[in-house]
Order: sequence, then C-alpha cells, then structure tokens
Amino acid sequence: MPKSKKPQSLLRNTFNFPAFNGLPDEPENEIDLKYYDDGPFGFKPSQHWCFLGEIVDSIGLVRTLLRVKDKDGQVVTTGLYTDDRGEALAPQIKEGHTVAVLYGEQHGFLDMSVGIRVEDASNIKIIPCSLEQLLKASDRATTLRKGQPGRCGSCGKQENASDNTHLRLCSRCRHALYCGEDCQRKAWEDGHKADCKALVGLRWFTERNWRTFHDWFSF
Ligand SMILES: [Zn+2]
Ligand SMILES: [Zn+2]
Repeated sequence: MPKSKKPQSLLRNTFNFPAFNGLPDEPENEIDLKYYDDGPFGFKPSQHWCFLGEIVDSIGLVRTLLRVKDKDGQVVTTGLYTDDRGEALAPQIKEGHTVAVLYGEQHGFLDMSVGIRVEDASNIKIIPCSLEQLLKASDRATTLRKGQPGRCGSCGKQENASDNTHLRLCSRCRHALYCGEDCQRKAWEDGHKADCKALVGLRWFTERNWRTFHDWFSF
C-alpha cells in the first residue's frame, strides 16, 4: 500500500487490530515478544490488541461456534468457551455483524481447524454492523478529528451564524452533523441508520489508548 500522510484510521492499524495471522500464539507454545514484555513479575502485554471479524455462519450445538471472516478475508472459528457457552450473546449473533475479541490468540481446535478460543465473556462483543462499515466509520472519525469545519451530513451546508445555520449532532452517534430535522431525517433514510450503528460501536474503541498497557480492557 502506498504511504500517505493521512493519519491512520484506528481500526485499520494492524498492530492493535491484527487479522488472525497477526495474532500471537497461545503462550503455552511460545511467548510472542511482539505482544508481551518480559518484566520483573513475568510477561505482561506491551500493548492492547483486538481481533475483528464478520460473522459468516454460526455453528455448534453444545456451545456457540462462530465462523468469522477477518480483515484479510480468512475465515476462522471463534469458539465460546465461556460459562454460558455463548448463550447471552445469542440474540446479537447475526450474519454480517462484527465480532470483536480482546487479546485473542491463535488456537488450534481438536478438529484441526484454527481460530480463537474465548474463555472470558467480557472479552467478546458483537457490533451490529458489518466489518467494512465499522472500518469506514473509523476512517471517517479520523478525518473529522483533523479539525475539518463541520458540514451538514445531508446538504453539506457549513455552520454559519450570519444566515442562522447551526449544526447539531446526531444524538445517537454524536458524530454526524445536520443543519435541521429535515436533513437529519433524509440522511437517516439514505443510510445513516446503518452508519450510525457503526459509529456508536466505534466509540468504545476510539475512547481508549491502545498503545500503552496498564490494565486489561474488557467489554
Ligand atoms: Zn442540511
Ligand atoms: Zn448518528
């Protein structure tokens, strides 16, 4: 990919948001020094990381096993080895929704398939939008934070006190701006409904510092 001066979109960065092949191996095999530091009290993560994948299928009878497609297009299994075997997540499991797994590691299942074994329910979350929508929301959030003047997300009008154009934020995502109710309604029907969910899902990620590890994150 060509280098650009644009600030990198948070969720596109492969360091904190690696595809499956970039995840560390389970530590019983070998400590991955890209992810862990050797400190006085043993190994400690040197950064936070989170796997993102889009649900393509849900299999498994005894427990929830999700087939998810990662950023590279590889389909892997995410197995819910939590106390409730994934029951609490069931209502949100839908093809096309995105699964986020904190601190995921590459696991080889007994049936020889590869994937992630989730043991702690607070490490997994489902975001009700596609992976592409979530990544695009992340791109948009990055561009906006550069201090671009706000524009109405529907008609493009800029904030202007002299002609009484005041932009207000969408109360759900607190991200999209509109000059009035008509524009807001129009944008909602034209696709903001889906984008909004992605932006709301994104907020949890953008509010955190992924570069420095102090304590484990949990959903
Ligand atoms: Zn407008
Ligand atoms: Zn919104």
